[in-house]
Amino acid sequence: MTDKSKCCTCGYEWETGKNGRHSCSDNFKRRINKATDIAARFGQIDGAHHKTWVIDQMVRTLTGDDYPAFVDYASEDIGEDGPFRDEWDCGIAP
Ligand SMILES: [Zn+2]
Repeated sequence: MTDKSKCCTCGYEWETGKNGRHSCSDNFKRRINKATDIAARFGQIDGAHHKTWVIDQMVRTLTGDDYPAFVDYASEDIGEDGPFRDEWDCGIAP
């Protein structure tokens, strides 16, 4: 198994010891393009559960490895009677 190094700005990973040169802004642009592509392809499909799926897929794309931390953060504020833990809704794929 090879060790991996990771850019703490954009999440780009490379084999430790190898050249890890990359463009953080290119990685961010790639993520944004992927997220907006999901919105363009699936964002207008009827059904709240499908729109919830689109939001979840966009968040996964944009947050990458930080997705579990996002779900923790988002789950804290779900609910009508003040903050309590609930499950982040991943929706249903169209
Ligand atoms: Zn980077």
